[in-house]
Amino acid sequence: MSIQSQLSDILTRIQDAEKRVGRPPGSAKLIAVSKTFPAQDVLECYECGQKVFGENKVQEGLSKKEALPTEIIWHLIGPLQRNKARKAIENFDLIHAVDSLKLATYMNGIAQELGKTPHILLEVNVGDEDSKFGFSIEDLKSEWNELLQLSHLKIDGLMCIPPPSDLAEDSRPYFKQLVALRDELTNVSGVQLPELSMGMSHDFEIAVEEGATLVRVGSAIFGNRDYSH
Ligand SMILES: *Cc1c(COP(=O)(O)O)cnc(C)c1O
Repeated sequence: MSIQSQLSDILTRIQDAEKRVGRPPGSAKLIAVSKTFPAQDVLECYECGQKVFGENKVQEGLSKKEALPTEIIWHLIGPLQRNKARKAIENFDLIHAVDSLKLATYMNGIAQELGKTPHILLEVNVGDEDSKFGFSIEDLKSEWNELLQLSHLKIDGLMCIPPPSDLAEDSRPYFKQLVALRDELTNVSGVQLPELSMGMSHDFEIAVEEGATLVRVGSAIFGNRDYSH
């Protein structure tokens, strides 16, 4: 199947999921995850109307950004290392996976130096997996006030990657957890957290049903990734 037909299939399925739960059309936005795919594929997808793309590595995203129309909006969805923070802040419209108070504090300092207020999401380790990045739910609650002091960061919301499973339904309880955590953080602080980045190729419809505002879909649009080169 072509990128065009896969993209249009995903957009239809997002709309159908929005309808099933009575959400307004367009309230869940698609981020086309183009990691490992060439700039040419991004261009093809962009020419079909897709505007927002997600990359998980700073340098790979930058090379594509430099080769492609400036209208494209780039999100960094992968884990961020300190030494890439400056480039990330300078080049990406939203950074999804800020995973510790330490990293956030470091980014706040760089943002101040650059005179920028980058938009970020906080990654939550909803499955409490040893292998995963992200704040534990407990840490995020206890560090929330400190995070809110970082005045050069704009915290737009939360992001999660549930434990891998073949069954999309298995992700639902984790998505519910992320929504509940967002509501709790808003309740204790009065700070709105409008964005929820959750759902990938295999479970994005469930994520939309549970309130995702950003779904990160790669292989269902571009095909299987080849990591061999
Ligand atoms: C690769 C990636 C995705 C997209 O995964 P697919 O299963 O290809 O849709 C989403 N989120 C993150 C953080 C990723 O690294």
